[in-house]
Amino acid sequence: MVSSVVPVPPAASLADPAAVRADFPILGERVNGQPLVYLDSGATSQKPQAVIDAEVAFLTRANSAVHRGAHTLAAEATELFEDARATVAGFVGAPAEQLVWTSGATAGLNLVAYAIGNASVGRGAPASARVALREGDEIVITETEHHANLIPWQELAARTGAVLRHIPVRDDGTLDLDAAADLIGARTRVVAFPHVSNVLGIVNPVADLIALAREVGALTVMDACQSAPHLPLDLFALGVDLAVFSGHKMLGPYGVGGLYGRAEILEALPPFLTGGSMITTVTLDEASYLPPPQRFEAGTQPVSQAVGLAAAARYLQGLGMDAVYAHEREIAARMGAGLRELPGIRLLGDAEGVERVGLWAFDVEGVHAHDVGQFLDARGVAVRVGHHCAQPLHRRFGLTASVRASASVFTTADDVDVFLDAVSGVRAYFGADA
Ligand code: PMP
Repeated sequence: MVSSVVPVPPAASLADPAAVRADFPILGERVNGQPLVYLDSGATSQKPQAVIDAEVAFLTRANSAVHRGAHTLAAEATELFEDARATVAGFVGAPAEQLVWTSGATAGLNLVAYAIGNASVGRGAPASARVALREGDEIVITETEHHANLIPWQELAARTGAVLRHIPVRDDGTLDLDAAADLIGARTRVVAFPHVSNVLGIVNPVADLIALAREVGALTVMDACQSAPHLPLDLFALGVDLAVFSGHKMLGPYGVGGLYGRAEILEALPPFLTGGSMITTVTLDEASYLPPPQRFEAGTQPVSQAVGLAAAARYLQGLGMDAVYAHEREIAARMGAGLRELPGIRLLGDAEGVERVGLWAFDVEGVHAHDVGQFLDARGVAVRVGHHCAQPLHRRFGLTASVRASASVFTTADDVDVFLDAVSGVRAYFGADA
């Protein structure tokens, strides 16, 4: 079915970086008269032609409303949509029925927090007591959160009387697991954490956090936004209860993402958004709900985007996620070594001997991050500047902003060298090396 509507090109190989680059049409663009060196995949990745083609193929050949039409196109669209679910679920190590479509990680985390809030006021099936919070219960997060995995918990705590606590980050960017072991206790009901921080690039010891949470029966919620595109994920084997990711960061379209859940946890969660497509019977007074995943998919879903995301998952699987992760580590090592050699550069989360993806945030002494960003942009190098939606983490490191360079499968050693060469000129240009 997929191959008859959506073209499936032959797999690319990271052994041929030029061929991988050629799969991403935007990389042929010039920016400010310079060849584009795109180092902002942590914010949003570029898309291979296969993803663009998949979405176009769906829209030109199968576009229709899913799950309800009595006509052939609707059946084709439904098959492509559900096939996309199975593909993306398989990519993260999950059965199809355990993957909920969302519009992205932020939506997924809000869904979870609001569903827990609903359970806490007695909504949902009897099993919902498993996820309900009571006054004085504790939600444990980390000091490294993206605001998307922080503010929904602040709001949930405010609504339920739960207490928000955090695992501190050490000076080298690693999580303080001793503190985590002390914090996670009898009152802990939820432990939420990033697999990889979007500022530090370090792969967190998530199996240890999950083990600590399990000991006390707390629910685990993992933000896999910055890991899903870069390393092999097997969420089922990891044993995490709930995990979210965003399509646009993993070579896929905007407006689509996933929420993975363990079967009994999804079953226990009451819905967050309600309306069409998530119900069985509706009267004017009440409604009963479909089982997961449809229970969490009220209203029209991002169908062509899901098809595009499946093409992204197939593209990454074609490269091989072990090879992708090896590539990330090489880029991280080259970038880290190059930045360490430059005077006046302070890396955030400079821990030795830890697993990393190809993402580094840094401070340039004497030059504001925005000036660094503009200087690099003039040389065709696209990086992120600011607090990267992680204000508490920046405050922890005594900063309000940093510069972040982040890689993807199309990032080459040459890209890193152009970037390092450009960064080496920043302080002299701004007179900060005097
Ligand atoms: N968590 C992390 C770690 C992220 O990097 C991001 C995106 N910057 C998000 C959550 C939010 O993702 P989205 O904006 O796609 O919902």
